[in-house]
Order: sequence, then structure tokens, then C-alpha cells
Amino acid sequence: MLLRGATILTRWSNPDALAQADVRIQDGVIAEIGPNLTPLPGEPVTELGGGLLAPSFVCGHTHLYSALARGMPPASATPPNGFLEILDKVWWKLDRALDADSVRASARMGALDALRCGTTGLIDHHASPNFVDGSLDVVADNLRDIGVRGLLCYETSDRDGEAIRDAGLQENARFIRRGSDKWTAGMLGAHASFTLGDDSLDALGDLAQSLDAGLHIHVAEGTDDRQQTRQRYGADLLGRMADRGLLRPGTILAHCVDLTDSEIAQAAEAGCHFAHNPSSNLNNRVGFSPLWQRADAVVLGTDGIGADMYSEAKMAWFRGTEATGALSPGRVAQMLDASADLLYCNLGMKGGAIVPGFAADLQWLNYDSPTPLTADTIAGHLLFGMGSQFVQHVWSGGRQVLKSGEFCALDEAAERHEGRVQAKRLWAGRVVD
Ligand SMILES: [Zn+2]
Repeated sequence: MLLRGATILTRWSNPDALAQADVRIQDGVIAEIGPNLTPLPGEPVTELGGGLLAPSFVCGHTHLYSALARGMPPASATPPNGFLEILDKVWWKLDRALDADSVRASARMGALDALRCGTTGLIDHHASPNFVDGSLDVVADNLRDIGVRGLLCYETSDRDGEAIRDAGLQENARFIRRGSDKWTAGMLGAHASFTLGDDSLDALGDLAQSLDAGLHIHVAEGTDDRQQTRQRYGADLLGRMADRGLLRPGTILAHCVDLTDSEIAQAAEAGCHFAHNPSSNLNNRVGFSPLWQRADAVVLGTDGIGADMYSEAKMAWFRGTEATGALSPGRVAQMLDASADLLYCNLGMKGGAIVPGFAADLQWLNYDSPTPLTADTIAGHLLFGMGSQFVQHVWSGGRQVLKSGEFCALDEAAERHEGRVQAKRLWAGRVVD
């Protein structure tokens, strides 16, 4: 197909000069870009008539299972006091209640919300301790069905006992061996150091070695992780991961609020990526994470608070500039591009830019800027003007999934209805105390 007449933003962080051009898509990939391309015989043509055509976004750390948590009433008589109680009273009660139907609905609701914001890729961290085996297939199949790519893992943890921990390890290994089909791929997943005993970390280290896989894990999300790790296992937070070869290329360390400069440098040196989640850090009051000033390989995540990367980019900027006074808007755009690079690399393909040979994962914004929109000003527009409200069309793998704000191939009202049915069932299925 041929998309005609939009201004092309080649890449969020280092775009070419913004100019009007046409884009040809063939077999899900950008085939050609240029002014006034002539339609091939039988080629469908979409006249965009202006606006901005940009690479779609990837959320660098999320939890689709939280998609049905919006507005959820508490399951505990007393409100959570501190981060550990937020996990215990909110999220671990929710994930234990998940079954195949609610996992399916969570993935579908999360995917719909993502596409509406111009986000076509998610790096997800999944937990459903009473439905482990096959859970990643349910997430993968539903993402693909809706048109969202994913890098998936299962959250290995000791917190629900040995059998469920082992099931988590097996689910990761099974899904990684399934390989990439260009829509989803797997990596190892684990909750956080403080819920993983030495045996569990040993097993993860062995799998990382034998499967040549990175580990997606929460690290130093506040000060509890380090303290609890020392108290329970008498060991150093990063040291015990390094000892088992888990700080390695492909590993994603999420949050990293309570890491020192030298620890960040050590992990970066080992080839790790870092996921910055500013909204979640604020929401859980775990502190300000400065890692994105100190390391290059930083991706931007929502930690399950939707997948609106325009909103998350603003959060990164406002909180970051408040705390440091020394950031450039372009740094936030770099984090968005880094998220895309990490996903597409794991899928074994190119993406995240409007360049021939790259995945045709695109968003079109009806953004009629009141000020000049150029390669030099784009990051300022990203933080102070653009937003998901301007996203009108979205293409994923060359297929248009959102057209003028409406889903092309699914009944959104029916999907949302099913989401609400599953949400009610999920909420009611939690153990109350
Ligand atoms: Zn998380």
C-alpha cells in the first residue's frame, strides 16, 4: 500500500529533516520512501493529506495483567503501608486470582489501550501464579491477534512456593524455545532479588547460560530490595546476580532507584539494559531514579500504568528536570527509541524508524503545529505539544489497525464488555483480608 502526503518523522531522537513524502509498504515492511511515488497497478493508496507520520512506540516495561485493575477496590481492610505492602495487598492478590480467561482479557484490553496511544510494541513482565503453564501463549496469541508485538517473560518468584516457582522457570524456558515469529519472543523473567532464594537464582543463571537469554527483573525498586536481600540471603543485591552470570547482554533491570553510580556502571558494562518507570516510581513513592542520566541503554516503561508513551515521556521529563535541572528533551526521545531498538532486536528484525527495510509499525498524528516542526524542535513538541489525543491512524506489521480513531478489524464495544465481565470476576476472585 501507499501512504501519501504526510510529513515524515524518520526517528524520534535523531530524525532526518522533516519533509513531506510518500511511504510504500510491502509485506509488512517499509519498502520505499520518496516524494510523489507512483502507485503500482492494484496498489491501495491512502491519502493522508498532511499530518505527521511517525514510528509507533514501544513500552519498555509493563505488566499487561494489571490492565483489569483500573478502579479495583481494595482487598484488604487496612490500606498498604509502604512498597512491600503495596505488592502484598494489591498486586499479589490480583495475580493469584488470574486464570486463562482473565489473562486473555487483560492482554486484549492492554493491547487495545496501547494501539489507541500509537504504541504497537510491549515489553511485558507477566505473573499469574495459579495459571502459569501456557500463560505466555495466551498473552502472545492475543497480542498478535490484535496487532501488538511483544517481548514476553514469566515472573519467576519464590513467593508462592517451590512448585509455582518451578512452573515459572519452565514456562520461561518453554516460551523462549518457541522462538520469535516476528510478533512475540521470549526472555527469562523474575520478580526481584528479595523474593528469589539462592536455588532460584542458580536455576535462572543456568537457564540464561543454556538458552543464551537475558533476564527481565525488578531491581532496587526502592530501598526494600537491597535491605531484604541482605536480611534474607546475606548477600549483595547486584553481586548475587553477577555471581550467576545474570548481568549479561539482553538483561533488563527495571526501576534501579536505589543503585549507586558504580553499580549502574557495572551493569551497563555487562551489557544490561535499564527500564525507567517514572509514573510508577511516583505512584509507589519509591524515590527518584537517576539512572537514565547515567546510562545509555535506558528504555522507558509504564510498569503497567497503561501504554501511553506520550504521557510517560512527559512524566520522565517533568520529574527528571525537577530533580536534576540538567536534562535535555532529546534524552527522553532517546529512551523511546531505545525501547523500540530493544524489542525489535529481540524479535530478530528492524524497526523503530521510517526507513526502508524496517517494520511498517507506524502512527499518524493529526498534529497541526502552531510553531515550526523541525528535526531540531521535535523533542520539544513531544514533551509540550503532542499527545495520544492526536493519534488517528496506526499500522502494525503493515496492517492498518486503527483508522480515524476506530479499530479496523474488531468490535471494540464487545471487547470492552468482555473486559468488564472479566474484571468483575477477577476482583471477586481475590482473597480478602
Ligand atoms: Zn514492573
